[in-house]
Parts: sequence; structure tokens; C-alpha cells
Amino acid sequence: MICEARNSKNQGGLETVELDQNRMGRLTRMNALQGQQMAQESERRRLLKLKQIEGALISLSNDDFGYCFKCDHEIAVERLKFDPTITRCIICCESKN
Ligand SMILES: [Zn+2]
Repeated sequence: MICEARNSKNQGGLETVELDQNRMGRLTRMNALQGQQMAQESERRRLLKLKQIEGALISLSNDDFGYCFKCDHEIAVERLKFDPTITRCIICCESKN
């Protein structure tokens, strides 16, 4: 009885997929669009990080590395160890201005 119930349930699920070709097409398009958006966001983040690294390298060559670009105080070493491209001290970072 249990197997029969499962089989009929599974067949119902298969029928829905087989009969609804338009729905599958939409899902495939949605997956493709979602994949494209994720790839675009990944590329945007990669380019942003590249700019941040270039900025850190410029600040190194100018002897400005490790100083907050906003208030000019030293940035905590722990913050720089976490992310050497950080450009603001914790106070300026948390002040939201
Ligand atoms: Zn600061």
C-alpha cells in the first residue's frame, strides 16, 4: 500500500514536469538569469577589490599606508591584518560619514 501510494505520488510529480514544458523553460531562464547576476556581482566585487588593492599600493608608495584617509590617524594593525586595503580607522568607519 505504501509503495503504491509513493508510486502514484511520484508519477503525479513526473507528469507535472513532463506536461508543463513552459514552466521548465521559465525555470531554466530564471536559473540562467540568476547565474548571470551572480557572475556580474562577482565581477563587480573583483574589480572593486582590485581598485582597493591599487589604492593600498599607492598609499604604500606615498607613505600614507596605515593612516585613515579621513582623519589621518593610524589605523589599528589588527584591522590592516584583517584587510590591508582598509582606508579608514574604526572611529571613522563607525561614524557613517
Ligand atoms: Zn579616521
